[in-house]
Amino acid sequence: MIKLELPVVKFSQDQKDFRATIRSFLQNERLAGTFESKCDSWLSGDSIEFSRKLGQKGWIGMTWPQEYGGGERSAIERYILTEELLAAGAPVAAHWFADRQTGPLFLKYGSEEQKQFFLPQIAKGECFFSIGLSEPNAGSDLAAIRTKAERTDGGWLINGSKIWTSGAHISHYMIVLCRTSPYDQNQRHAGMSQLIVDMKEKGVTVRPIQFLTGEHHFNEVFFENVFVPDNRLIGTEGNGWKQGMAELAYERSGPERILSTYPLLEEMIHILRENEDEAGLKETIALLPDLWTLRNMSMGVAKYLEEGQDVNMIAALVKDLGTVFETNVAEKARLIISRIPSMSSNDRLSRLMAQSILHGPGFTLRGGTTEILRGIVAKGVVAQ
Ligand SMILES: Cc1cc2nc3c(=O)[nH]c(=O)nc-3n(C[C@H](O)[C@H](O)[C@H](O)COP(=O)(O)OP(=O)(O)OC[C@H]3O[C@@H](n4cnc5c(N)ncnc54)[C@H](O)[C@@H]3O)c2cc1C
Repeated sequence: MIKLELPVVKFSQDQKDFRATIRSFLQNERLAGTFESKCDSWLSGDSIEFSRKLGQKGWIGMTWPQEYGGGERSAIERYILTEELLAAGAPVAAHWFADRQTGPLFLKYGSEEQKQFFLPQIAKGECFFSIGLSEPNAGSDLAAIRTKAERTDGGWLINGSKIWTSGAHISHYMIVLCRTSPYDQNQRHAGMSQLIVDMKEKGVTVRPIQFLTGEHHFNEVFFENVFVPDNRLIGTEGNGWKQGMAELAYERSGPERILSTYPLLEEMIHILRENEDEAGLKETIALLPDLWTLRNMSMGVAKYLEEGQDVNMIAALVKDLGTVFETNVAEKARLIISRIPSMSSNDRLSRLMAQSILHGPGFTLRGGTTEILRGIVAKGVVAQ
């Protein structure tokens, strides 16, 4: 019997008012032409100006301590903000990784100097991070990474490469998981560390990999004798695997694993209503119970994360179910709506369909593939 207990979150009046404030801000921004709503905006919709604007409003690093530029607000308030930004398809990709996982990583493992230096800049929307985990021969099997850092005077020299690195071309720094001790087949998770690489450092080369849509979102990154000073090691040398794994719960359970295609869903319902297409509408709204259930699960995980509970298994479950839902939305649109998906169409619905269909293959890969997540869930269930 699966033990699946998650707290049910109910919103207070203050939280409902906060949601209304965000909605009206986003509506005004859209009307002012600041952004056009798009699917998967957390990954491929970057606007440095928009990130700065959110930073000025105190909407990055919302839950972090005030002494580091944060807002000391609750995880549920952050959830509300994230949900509204994604539902609106707002361009949040530039600061996404720093806000979602690098900040919490610093708070848990960073030195006082790192917290004081990086967190306020991130919270202002002025400092972006990318996450360097995957390598050409190390994706699902991350313990196979070969990028290495060797000791030199006052720091480290990194050599190796990363692949599929989202936003490496716009980030100021990358958290690189690398080997600081030689690879040992019998202790594959040992000897890894997390280093903060300044993307302007000599020896860093970023090469774009084009998305199916033609957009530039992820990259190959090469390191050739890249110097990293001692004070840019996060946490403890050799503890990189454990530290990196702790980030994954933040990465897997948020509303971005459910709402990547929400702008399409909303537009579909709008158009089907306008056309009085009852059959199409009936099929489309049949998706909504899944959305509601997933949302409640994801909010429950956010609450558990705030309480410091271990959510590894549940987060994997939410990501698996959530990404299947996102893909179903794109598939339903393709079957129900008689329009040709096209990125360059003047028709908004056609563009949203094209974005969802072309981004779709990545939903179940990024952040851990479906097969890997199901393995985590299966092991978690067996262990109970
Ligand atoms: C849009 C996008 C953005 C990304 N952004 C980043 C990023 O910012 N930083 C970063 O480091 N990485 C990023 N990635 C990489 C992503 O994390 C990897 O693609 C993912 O972990 C899978 O690794 P892989 O591509 O090497 O596939 P592989 O690991 O080679 O897997 C290929 C297939 O084999 C299956 N498979 C592998 N091992 C097993 C097993 N043991 N049991 C069952 N099936 C298995 C997988 O499920 C998959 O279907 C991104 C990927 C995408 C698509």
